[in-house]
Amino acid sequence: MKIVYRSDWGAQPPRGKFRALNPRKVQGIVLHHSGVMNPPKGVAAVKAYEAYHLSKPAYTAIAYGWLVDEEGVIYEGRPIGMQTGATRGWNSRTESICYTGFGGRDVPPAALQSIKDLVAHIQKRYDNNLWVKPHRDLGQTTCPGDVLSNWLVGGMEIDGDVPLSLDTSDRLAELAKEVARRPLSRKRRSRGEAVRAVQKRLKERGHDPGKIDGVMGKLTAYRTRRFQRQMGYLKIDGRVGIRTWSALFDA
Ligand SMILES: [Zn+2]
Repeated sequence: MKIVYRSDWGAQPPRGKFRALNPRKVQGIVLHHSGVMNPPKGVAAVKAYEAYHLSKPAYTAIAYGWLVDEEGVIYEGRPIGMQTGATRGWNSRTESICYTGFGGRDVPPAALQSIKDLVAHIQKRYDNNLWVKPHRDLGQTTCPGDVLSNWLVGGMEIDGDVPLSLDTSDRLAELAKEVARRPLSRKRRSRGEAVRAVQKRLKERGHDPGKIDGVMGKLTAYRTRRFQRQMGYLKIDGRVGIRTWSALFDA
């Protein structure tokens, strides 16, 4: 993983001292985006953020810990291990990444790959104990857009055809327990690894739910109903409880 450090992109000196994060207090990684449709690209985007943040007295420097541009180039926003100013109310407890493109429409695979690599890189410093969330889960905002948010909570797959690491019987057994406790449904807006596994399995069994995005949307619920009807003995409700799950995976 290649990082363009502050000295490489020509960062301004910070206005005051950076404050170090207390690693024991850090709980997660928050993902942001530019929020505008046609933002500047590459280093220009990073510098635009810096100029904007420095124009406000509250900021010491560019607000983000890390930035990833549309080509997947990774930039150091604040020096490693320092508190950022990106997520109101959470800055002493989170690391932050900003995608400099617009996360509400398709994000290039190179950018997704870099975000994923960067998350792994950050996690390494915390023994893989951090949660990873879209900004919108922590505040009144749509940031970082539907596409990027769904990708993140859906398990950060780069391509639906990439083999899922969860395809081991152990992992599936764990997910089955989750599903038994809490069935997957569109109404509940279920999302995550279990939904992704269901989508993949539906597709394998001839009920293509479209994009494997880890979100229990309209098409996934519809294909689930089709599968339930085909099986003959399942309740046809478009939800995945343990009976439908077992029918999908135990065959
Ligand atoms: Zn944000």
